[in-house]
Amino acid sequence: MPRLRPAVVLAALCLTFACAATGRAPTVVLPDGVMVDFPTAITFTLPDPPQDVAGAAVVYKVEHHSCAEVSGYAPADMANGPRWTWDLSDAGGLPPGARITYRWETRDAAGVVSSTPERAFTVEDARYQWREVREGLVTVRWHSGSESFARQMLGYATESVDTLTRETGTPLQGPATIHIYQSTSQLRGALINAQEWTGGQAFPQFGLIAIAVPSGSGSLGKPYIAHELSHLFIGQATFSCYTRAPSWLDEGLATRAEGPLRPEFQSLLGSAIARDDLFTVRALRAAFPTAPAEASLAYAQSASLVDYLLEHFGADRMAIFLEALREGLTDDAALHRAYGFDQEGLYARWRAWKGLAAPAQPVPTPTSTPVRIPTPPGLNMILSGPAGATSQRVSAFTGSTAIAIATGGGAHD
Ligand SMILES: [Zn+2]
Repeated sequence: MPRLRPAVVLAALCLTFACAATGRAPTVVLPDGVMVDFPTAITFTLPDPPQDVAGAAVVYKVEHHSCAEVSGYAPADMANGPRWTWDLSDAGGLPPGARITYRWETRDAAGVVSSTPERAFTVEDARYQWREVREGLVTVRWHSGSESFARQMLGYATESVDTLTRETGTPLQGPATIHIYQSTSQLRGALINAQEWTGGQAFPQFGLIAIAVPSGSGSLGKPYIAHELSHLFIGQATFSCYTRAPSWLDEGLATRAEGPLRPEFQSLLGSAIARDDLFTVRALRAAFPTAPAEASLAYAQSASLVDYLLEHFGADRMAIFLEALREGLTDDAALHRAYGFDQEGLYARWRAWKGLAAPAQPVPTPTSTPVRIPTPPGLNMILSGPAGATSQRVSAFTGSTAIAIATGGGAHD
């Protein structure tokens, strides 16, 4: 989910980040007939097809956390190959670093089906020469600037992982790889349908982050990396086939991970408390508002809700809460298991902590029955193939979250 930037930081970052226009990535020709035109298309051509081939298809899979082993099946164009071009623009794109496995299935005139061995490749942004540094589960890949810059970013990332682990009682669940671009324009060249304000995007199901942090930015990049890494961390810690973590928890932890609450967030939250004009916890479950002031308040209040839970109940209870969400419990059931109260209970207690009276009109508490989603959204895309995918599906497929660092301040996707 996107993140707002304070105006002063936006201005500084825009001057530094969003500048150089970048060209298209060169086509990368891989062995075994694969050509990658990042980020828009991948073309598969079957080398040395059998003489009597009558039909062929690519059976492929995008490696990521999912609820079932499901492969795509794409019939090939026999007049020019066999050949199949996967239009990633229609599919919403893949993050740099995504891993694809595939094999060819061929059918001869008699209907006998044969299969090639399974092969794999990584989708790279070939506009740049990437280097990498690694510590534990965290890898930083960068293409410009010194190794000391990369190690500084790696230090911010590992420090964030340590803090999140300590505060949530939960370890990082898998590898996290961060691709660092030098500007928002470079970053947007790697993403399909990126918004003007996109400054970073986390893909928790892939264990990948793409983010814009110029090599000369020093510590300015720290909160950006901490925010997106938190999304990846929580996305993996709460991954479930049945539901996803509420926005107030995901964004609250990510905003808290940045460091002390920004002054403008503090001011907005203070004013909203003084007016008693606040969001209920239930209202902060879904996507945040798009209006800048409301969105900023949503982030500030979410961070404060997480502050309340961590300061009063600690890491052990948070670990139980995250695990319950991972099991697919509803927010109310997960809160009950960890804390003994539901969303209304949290809202009432948080209000009391802030010196406010009990909510005037408490919303009736719904049942705590988990809501099962029979087919995970991403699987729809894989099952139906990219031609049938919508941007909404793909957003769910990538499980991605974006942050805003350029102009516009209040934009969200
Ligand atoms: Zn965020």
